Amino acid sequence: MPETKVADKNTPYWWEAAPVKPLPEQPLVRTLDVAIVGAGYAGLAAGLTLARAGRSVAAFDAMSPGEGASSRNGGITSGTIRHDQATLTRRFGEDKALAIEAEGKVAREFLYDFLATEGIACDFRPVGIFKGAIGFRQYDAMARGAETLARKLKIESYAVPHREQRGFIGTDFYRGGAVRMDIGGLHPGKFHAELLRVALASDLTVHAHTPVTAIERNVGGFRVTTAAGTVQARQVLVCTNGYTDGAAPYLRRRMVPVRSRIIATEELSADTMSRLMPRQMMMSEGRQLGFYYRPSPDGRRILFGGRDSSRVGDPVAPTLRLRNGLVELFPELEKTRLTHSWFGNVAMNRDMLPRIFEKDGVVYATGFCGSGVVWAPWIGTRAAHKLMGHTEQADTAFDFRPPAAVPLYRGNPWFMPAVIKGYGLQDRIAWWRAKR
Ligand SMILES: Cc1cc2nc3c(=O)[nH]c(=O)nc-3n(C[C@H](O)[C@H](O)[C@H](O)COP(=O)(O)OP(=O)(O)OC[C@H]3O[C@@H](n4cnc5c(N)ncnc54)[C@H](O)[C@@H]3O)c2cc1C
Repeated sequence: MPETKVADKNTPYWWEAAPVKPLPEQPLVRTLDVAIVGAGYAGLAAGLTLARAGRSVAAFDAMSPGEGASSRNGGITSGTIRHDQATLTRRFGEDKALAIEAEGKVAREFLYDFLATEGIACDFRPVGIFKGAIGFRQYDAMARGAETLARKLKIESYAVPHREQRGFIGTDFYRGGAVRMDIGGLHPGKFHAELLRVALASDLTVHAHTPVTAIERNVGGFRVTTAAGTVQARQVLVCTNGYTDGAAPYLRRRMVPVRSRIIATEELSADTMSRLMPRQMMMSEGRQLGFYYRPSPDGRRILFGGRDSSRVGDPVAPTLRLRNGLVELFPELEKTRLTHSWFGNVAMNRDMLPRIFEKDGVVYATGFCGSGVVWAPWIGTRAAHKLMGHTEQADTAFDFRPPAAVPLYRGNPWFMPAVIKGYGLQDRIAWWRAKR
């Protein structure tokens, strides 16, 4: 029996204002300085930088540019690392942990500066983010983290105790939380479309619907086979992240695609919106399988996202899970219609860190672990400088060894539903321990 539809459409809400489009076909230039695989934020940012420096460069995308994660995401300019500050400190020591946070700050500023100087119209608003704590102990840790960010990195961040929470979010579900004001929200589809506009104007050639099928090293650099023909490139940059396929087998063994899904509510009244999201902030929470959510740029809907453990098709269960999460926070939305529900792939690697790395001469810019709105343009730009030998501009704490291979993994993430279940179990244990 066909499943009952839960949302009106299964395409991104963002595509209403910024539909992804195929590009006009471009003639294939047979000899290039750089061939880029993937034309999401990372590939375009790299291509733009290389083209402006006078390199002959083309980006190839298997789909319409942006059709991957770059026009599907939540638009939260997080630029954070999946591990919290305490875990990073435990794993890398305090200095490295702070260097990683500090680079997030620089990368965010780089993005904001880019939006302003290039005149990128993408509804960016530096509204801040509230992160909800699931228990009072987690709140204490968040308060300490906020204090460290403020003291050591001069980021405006502060704790919000439970009694003041309603000034930030219309729920009593959390036990307080923390705010940081260096994070905001943009329209991801418009951002990608504008980045594409600027990149094309800078003479980057973009080949849409042109998958790269093989990359082979030869005397002059690389022979790159694409659906439109073969090109000879001196250098190759792979920016395929959560959509990596057999053209990049080395990366595919190291990068697990995981679905993330977002639902959009119908338009809510101005009253409801100002009660539920009084400051129009971005929102996240301290659960492993936590939700991320935000008002739409026009402030009329809630866009509510989280992990999706499905692997094939477009089943309704993940939409229902999000809907339940939304209603658990905001019971008054129980009867609210959903207009959109869509998913995209984020790329997870074993240590959950973005990076640039080189293997057999090919450079990779990847591993954004669901935080690529800030990281992908930043790492893509650093990777472009690395290819050009600009040591100083290429400098980043994320240029290091390749991520470790995932044991027994060749591109079919059969184990992800179990991993996600495991996270769910950890959340239930944390919930129970929180003694709310
Ligand atoms: C639902 C969802 C919500 C998210 N929310 C946020 C958020 O709020 N904040 C945040 O910071 N990040 C978020 N992210 C993550 C963010 O969207 C990504 O990290 C970022 O878009 C990655 O950009 P990219 O350029 O590396 O990859 P993508 O935009 O995914 O582009 C990769 C491209 O590579 C192409 N490709 C793959 N293989 C080939 C091949 N062989 N030949 C040619 N082309 C190929 C694909 O077609 C694709 O277009 C979210 C992601 C999703 C899916």
